[in-house]
Amino acid sequence: MTTHAGLPRHQFQQDANLTANDGPRREAVRKALGNYQTARNRTGATFTDWKSARNAAATIKHEALNHLDRYLEEFEQKFTARGGKVFWASDSKQARDYILKLAKEKGVRSIVKSKAMTGEEIHLNEALLEEGYGVVESDLGEYIQQLKGEPPYHFVFPCMHLRRDEISDLFHRELGTAQTNSPEELTMIARRVLRRAYVEADMGISGANFIVADTGMISITENEGNARLTVGLPKIHVALIGIEKMVPRLGDLALFLPMLATAGTGQHLTGYNSMYGGPRQPGETDGPEEFHVVFLDNHRTRLLADPEQRDALHCIRCGACLNVCPIFKNIGGHTYGTTYQGPIGSVITPHFRGLQDWKHLSGASSLCGACTETCPVGIDIHHHLLHNRRNAAAQKPASGEGLLWKAFVFLMKRPALYRLATKFAPLGGLLQPLLEHVPFNPLHNWTETREFPQAPLRSFRDQFRAHQAAKTSQAKGGAR
Ligand code: SF4
Repeated sequence: MTTHAGLPRHQFQQDANLTANDGPRREAVRKALGNYQTARNRTGATFTDWKSARNAAATIKHEALNHLDRYLEEFEQKFTARGGKVFWASDSKQARDYILKLAKEKGVRSIVKSKAMTGEEIHLNEALLEEGYGVVESDLGEYIQQLKGEPPYHFVFPCMHLRRDEISDLFHRELGTAQTNSPEELTMIARRVLRRAYVEADMGISGANFIVADTGMISITENEGNARLTVGLPKIHVALIGIEKMVPRLGDLALFLPMLATAGTGQHLTGYNSMYGGPRQPGETDGPEEFHVVFLDNHRTRLLADPEQRDALHCIRCGACLNVCPIFKNIGGHTYGTTYQGPIGSVITPHFRGLQDWKHLSGASSLCGACTETCPVGIDIHHHLLHNRRNAAAQKPASGEGLLWKAFVFLMKRPALYRLATKFAPLGGLLQPLLEHVPFNPLHNWTETREFPQAPLRSFRDQFRAHQAAKTSQAKGGAR
């Protein structure tokens, strides 16, 4: 992976070119996604009525987001009644500062962390490491990425792009272990390191899959049991959660847990589904002494205020839209340069990090609609990509584009001139070789991978006229 320096758009183009030409990497991703698709098709078929389940999920998220203020308060009231603490962070800095201050006040030395994309979003690990805290990622895929010094490749499968031999090499280099091609042995190596990290940690950090308003609890789903240990063993726990993860009622999880598992990994249910409602209560033997929930806004309320695109906040981060996206399959996760990759990342990143800097992501789509079709909560993803494109153009038209459209309108309003122009269209093919010899080809990005379309020698209008004339003369001949 290259570093993301300079303009995000330029870096994106450069990385996309590199990855699209990296055959072995694309093959590894293709294989991983092929396995996912087989499992998902099998599990999806066990839903009696997936379409109705999807509509129900969309309705519940619609309700949760439309009354988010009320549900968040309900959660806070119930969670704090059991001794939990809630902090409202408007942006990344506030969230980071709160966690750093807490770690300092409590004399924390080492931290264990389970998977939390919100942590990636606010660059939490970097901030903690900078202040001298040891942080260990406890999810196996995240741990591998941390050892490699790379962000997750996919927000559900963080190291899906790596082959077993590459992971073995990494462990050999970083941990001094013997080379092995056995998945079990590789897992046991990580397990030995991670078990020690849980015991030594003073603070655990997690995210959450759902916030449940009526019980004042958070729900975490996982397959490795690492989140349970991350929450249960250290004496302080911090859950860093985006405010959109809300569901109103505990009963809603009866729909969302199997749905997330099916769409996310092709399982009926993930291995472990846990609910946490605050610190250890009197008489309980497990759990942290302090439990903090940090609610992260970070531009989510700005998106919530947009009636056209607010349903993008319904996302349950299952990753299914990435898995079916032809662009993701070809350019991979790192190319996006964002916390949230793939189609949904391309929709929300411009809202979170600035439309003009990140509008290119909305252009990186074939608009095939596979993302929308697969989304378990029915987000109209590919139309949101179009909305972003429209909004970006309205905010700041692309240089030169306005001129082109003006020329087009001028021509279309003058039929005689248009007809004359079409006579010269077949000469357009000559432009390609000409441009290739121009030192500063203005259409370089386009012509590098494409050829000018060959205009037909006779326009549609000419062909139609000829066709009509032939028909008329045939009719006259028949009448004679
Ligand atoms: S947009 Fe839909 S398909 Fe994509 S990650 Fe979110 S919930 Fe899953």
